[in-house]
Amino acid sequence: MSLDGFDIAVIGGGIIGLSIARALAEKHARVAIVDASGETPPATNAAAGMLAPSFENGAGNPEALYQLSIRSLKTWPSFAAALEEETGLDIDYRADGILGVAFTEAQAAVLADSCAVLQQRGAAVALMTGEDARMMEPFLSERVSAAFYAEDDAQVDARKALVALRASVQKKAGHLLAARLVSAQVKNGRYALTLSDGRAIEALKLVIASGAAATAGVIEDLPPPPVYPVKGEALAVRSPEAAFRRVIRGPGAYLCPKAEGRVIIGATEIPNCDDKEIDDAAIIALREKAHALVPVAQSWPETERWSGLRPATPDKAPILGRDLRGPDGVYLALGSYRNGVLLAPASAEAVAGEVLGETPVIDLKPFRPDRFGNKQAPHHG
Ligand SMILES: Cc1cc2nc3c(=O)[nH]c(=O)nc-3n(C[C@H](O)[C@H](O)[C@H](O)COP(=O)(O)OP(=O)(O)OC[C@H]3O[C@@H](n4cnc5c(N)ncnc54)[C@H](O)[C@@H]3O)c2cc1C
Repeated sequence: MSLDGFDIAVIGGGIIGLSIARALAEKHARVAIVDASGETPPATNAAAGMLAPSFENGAGNPEALYQLSIRSLKTWPSFAAALEEETGLDIDYRADGILGVAFTEAQAAVLADSCAVLQQRGAAVALMTGEDARMMEPFLSERVSAAFYAEDDAQVDARKALVALRASVQKKAGHLLAARLVSAQVKNGRYALTLSDGRAIEALKLVIASGAAATAGVIEDLPPPPVYPVKGEALAVRSPEAAFRRVIRGPGAYLCPKAEGRVIIGATEIPNCDDKEIDDAAIIALREKAHALVPVAQSWPETERWSGLRPATPDKAPILGRDLRGPDGVYLALGSYRNGVLLAPASAEAVAGEVLGETPVIDLKPFRPDRFGNKQAPHHG
């Protein structure tokens, strides 16, 4: 079966690919999304959905990544509202702030350093005592001695966002093709794509948003992007509804309250691991660390456990924009690592704008695919 030609084929229907496809379809580009999520589940389904630049991309990270994160965080309210309005689906976006907590003086000193750097960057962040933190979240452990509150950090339900994005893309006339891209070859200035289900499509341009999956060798003459998987394991427990309100991040674990009493506890971090096995001992350790933060969580039953592969790059910043290393018309949107949910709106704005040849609103220089030279991803162990 052969479909008509498309302006753009987006490879990968995780939060990054779908957000870009949606932005392209909004501008009336004819877009196909080729997505193998039935075969390779997206990392997006594993995400806790924190929108947490103050913790993830603050002190010790390059200013450009922080600014991209902040731009994305600021776009999230309108992005979420538009998605919900278009689709009638609730994605559980919450602008309740995030509380980072410490037990020891050394941990408190790290929070204080972070806070100072972020205050210099103009962020609405504050240090507080353990008592003040317990006033905000009464279930916090008595052992918490200091806290760092980032009032603008937020969260969303990543799985619900993915469902809504799929619906939105289809409403905007984007074509969702549930298959793996097997090969892409340039023919007469267009890409001829072969899909795993035997379908063939053509597109003028390609956006590669395939997460941690290796697309090496799939696109003719495209050098492999230096992306590697970092496995993360997590679990969910059921709490009494509204037991606590804010995301709580502490040493070795976080707790994210979602709708209907679901609480996500995460996450492990295992570089260069592309198996999806879930280690029971790792889940027990996560639970213990979460119980140290919120002791009452010991009585909350586990409802689910899972793993996912974060797409990482050698400098831990995403790879965004036109890939000048290979054939014309290939754009990459890879390597969002621990922050793909946070970075989705800004990545969509930047990459879709560049694909459509618009005047750039975001400087993609620090995120260009060719910034690594010939460096490859670390060896997959
Ligand atoms: C445990 C855990 C917790 C996390 N928590 C957070 C968080 O709180 N906040 C946050 O911002 N981020 C978080 N992340 C990171 C976040 O999940 C990722 O950064 C993000 O999901 C990456 O999105 P993506 O669209 O790039 O990739 P993915 O979501 O992995 O999607 C890629 C898609 O491409 C498809 N694909 C691959 N190869 C092909 C091919 N050849 N043909 C067709 N399709 C293909 C795959 O099937 C998949 O559907 C977390 C990750 C993990 C594992």
